[in-house]
Amino acid sequence: MTQLTTYPRRQTRKIEVGAVSVGGDAPISVQSMTTTKTADVEATLAQIYSLAANGCDIVRCTCNEPEAAEALAHIVPRSPVPIVADIHFHYQLALAALEAGVQCLRLNPGNIRKPERIKAVAMEARDRGVPIRIGVNGGSLDPDIEARYGQTPLGLVESAKREIGYFEEVGFDLIKISVKASNPALMIESYRLLADVTDYPLHLGVTEAGPLPGGLIKSTAGIAVLLAEGIGDTIRYSLTADPVEEARAGRQLLESLGLRERKSLDLIACPSCGRAEIDVIAVATAAQEALRELNVPIQVAVMGCVVNGPGEASSADVGIAAGRKRGHLFVRGQIVKVVPEAEMVSALVTWAKLVASDGIDAALAKADQGAAAEAAADRAALLDARGDDANEASVRIERMRSKDRPDEAKS
Ligand code: SF4
Repeated sequence: MTQLTTYPRRQTRKIEVGAVSVGGDAPISVQSMTTTKTADVEATLAQIYSLAANGCDIVRCTCNEPEAAEALAHIVPRSPVPIVADIHFHYQLALAALEAGVQCLRLNPGNIRKPERIKAVAMEARDRGVPIRIGVNGGSLDPDIEARYGQTPLGLVESAKREIGYFEEVGFDLIKISVKASNPALMIESYRLLADVTDYPLHLGVTEAGPLPGGLIKSTAGIAVLLAEGIGDTIRYSLTADPVEEARAGRQLLESLGLRERKSLDLIACPSCGRAEIDVIAVATAAQEALRELNVPIQVAVMGCVVNGPGEASSADVGIAAGRKRGHLFVRGQIVKVVPEAEMVSALVTWAKLVASDGIDAALAKADQGAAAEAAADRAALLDARGDDANEASVRIERMRSKDRPDEAKS
């Protein structure tokens, strides 16, 4: 993908979450969270592998009971990505998770509140060199902070600052911070405020964003605005959906902003309109399914008509446009083959795989002689069928020109 924009990145400290750097000049990482019972080691590992295969760099697992902490001891060494233990209420479970070997903890300051317990966890993490995310959540603020500030950016940031203070008192600074809210506007303002007062790396997310598609939109609204301002070192979509969707969304957002190198297929498709000669949605969906596993960063286009399609998608590596019951296959805008409508998806998949394996030049060298002329004839016939002046444009323009302009006539 061509890098069109660069966003000046806020300078933050760098911490290491296992083998993944967060902050500083490290690539912005994608996180998600398992939905299995952590105590079920095999189910949890299976989900972690799916998340990793879909672009997730760091995975969080709940550590809500002693059995979960013990399971983490088995999960950590077999996981392909670093594991964060999510701790609520029980500081002993944070200590147990550290003993299990997790690469990071997440503590919610709103529900582990005794300073001596927070410091005990921070000291143990300090001694082991394990970072902690201070995970403030607008919906579970410390009651005295909520009473004073309400669920406001100031309240969220005060909660983070208080926790930072406890950590720094015991010499612990392997910190990353989140100030999530379910309202993207509140979340954006909270992170902006936080970014002004600390240089610890920030973990972005809109919490409890909900099911698709609303959850995707809310999360993207919050996360993308901040990333474009250079704020954010790691991100998580919190969707009420299979967590694989979170990983895919996070990865796609970073790739679409040019913040991570594209690793997989980018399918572009026209939105369809009255000109479409095929069911664009069906063809694009079938192509997406067929190419989903193609982990090669190529751009594939599905365009509903040949009148505008190939031109508008000429930068795509490979694409197809429909015309007169046939598909015009093109590679970087050059027609390489014309196929019957029924073969459009299979031909597109074949050529996409060819481009992915052999490259653009090799694909162009396999172009059918005469395909370009065939396609040009189809296109011309379509334009003819619609008529060069089906709208009687010349007559209309003549009328427009000859008509008195009412305002001018009056004055
Ligand atoms: S490519 Fe053709 S069918 Fe698709 S939106 Fe554009 S004009 Fe309409």
